[in-house]
Amino acid sequence: MQRIYLDANATTPVLPEIVEAMRPFWLESFGNPSSAHQSGQRTRSAVEHARGAIAKLLHCTSKEIIFTSGGTESDNLALSGVLQPYLDSGEPAHLITSNIEHHAVLYTAESLERRGIEVTYLAPSRDGVIDPSALEAALKPHTKLVSIMLANNETGAVQPVGKLARIAKAHGTLVHTDAVQAAAKLPLDLSGEFKNVDLLSLSGHKMYAPQGTGVLFVRKGVQLAPLFHGGPHERQRRAGTENVPGIVGLGRAAELAHEWLNSQLDSRNSTLAAETPNPTSLTTLRDRLEQGLLNAIPNAYLNASGAPRVPNTTNLRITGVDAEALLIALDIQGIAASFGAACQSGATEPSHVLLAMGLSPAEARSSLRLSLSRLTAAEEIDRALEIIPAVVARLRSLS
Ligand code: PLP
Repeated sequence: MQRIYLDANATTPVLPEIVEAMRPFWLESFGNPSSAHQSGQRTRSAVEHARGAIAKLLHCTSKEIIFTSGGTESDNLALSGVLQPYLDSGEPAHLITSNIEHHAVLYTAESLERRGIEVTYLAPSRDGVIDPSALEAALKPHTKLVSIMLANNETGAVQPVGKLARIAKAHGTLVHTDAVQAAAKLPLDLSGEFKNVDLLSLSGHKMYAPQGTGVLFVRKGVQLAPLFHGGPHERQRRAGTENVPGIVGLGRAAELAHEWLNSQLDSRNSTLAAETPNPTSLTTLRDRLEQGLLNAIPNAYLNASGAPRVPNTTNLRITGVDAEALLIALDIQGIAASFGAACQSGATEPSHVLLAMGLSPAEARSSLRLSLSRLTAAEEIDRALEIIPAVVARLRSLS
C-alpha cells in the first residue's frame, strides 16, 4: 500500500536535492568552521553561503541571521533574549502574546511570567485571528515585546503581523513573530511587509530541511541576551559548534523555497489569466481536498473558514466523530494525518488553539488537521477523497 502523507505541518520530508547538498559535509568536508585550516575554511564558507541564502529569502542581511537547533530554540531565544535583561535589572516589563501560539512561545511566556514578567495573552476571533485593535488596547507604557505567530500550525490561519507590528512599533515596542508555519509557504519580506518585525523564527523541518535546524532573525541593533554560554559563535549570540550539514540543508531549502514561491506565483497568474484551475498549485490541491470532504461528509465544517490561510492546511470539524479514533483508522488505511489536539502524557487534550477560538471541547476533539506538502500528488488527493469519507461513515455507523 502506497501511504499518503498529509501531516506536513508536523514535519516535511527532506527533499533529495537537500540531502545531496548536505552529503559532502559528512563524508568529505567535516572541518570545524572555527578551525583556521583549509577544512575549517571550507565549512565556514558553506555556513556563510547558507546564511546568505536565508537572508535572501527573508530580505534581510546575513549578519541578522542566527542559526539555532529549531523553532523551539528560536522562540525561546527571542522571548528570553529580549526579556531576561529586564528580570536582571528589576525594571518592570510587559509581554503581549496570544493564546493560539505554539507551546514553544506559550510555555516560554509562562516561564517568564513565573519569574516576574507581566504577560497579556490576546484571544483570537472565532476564525482564529488576532484583531489589531485588541493589541492596541493591550499595550502599556512598559510593554517591551509583542510576540504573535505568522501562521497557526493547527488551522493555518495567517495573522495580520504586518499591521500588528506597525502598531507595536509606533508604541516603541519590539516585535517577534513565529514564522515556522509560514516559511516556504508565503513570501516573507523583512524589508517590505514585515519591516517592523524585529525577530522572526524559522524551523528547518517545516521547510524540507532536516529536523534539529532553525533560524532566528534578529534585526540590526536589537539587544539579545544569549541562552547558551560558551564560544563566540553566531556573533556571541548562540554558543556551540555549528551543525554544518544541517545549516547547509537549511540554506539549500531557502533557495528551493525561493524558486517554489516564484513558481506558485506564476501558476496563480496563469490560472487567473486562463480561468482554469492550475493543477500544480498547492492551494488548488488543498482546496480540492477540502471541498471534496465537505461535500462528501455530512455535518463536517471548516475551522478558521473566514481567515486567510496558508496554502497547505485544512482543519475540519467532523461532528460526532472522535478525531483520535479517526486518525487510527486512517493510519490503518494508509493516511497520515493529525488532529487539532495535543497528546500529553498519553491523554488527548483538546487543542488550546481551537478552545481559544471558542470551540467546545467536544468540537475540538472531533477536529482533524490535514496538511499537504510540495510533494503531495493529485492522485493522492483523489485517493484520500475516497478513503476519508468511507472511514468517517464507518466510524459513525459504529457509534
Ligand atoms: N512554532 C510552530 C508554529 C510550530 O509549528 C513548531 C513545530 O511544530 C515550532 C514552533 C517548534 O519548532 P521545532 O519543532 O523546530 O522545535
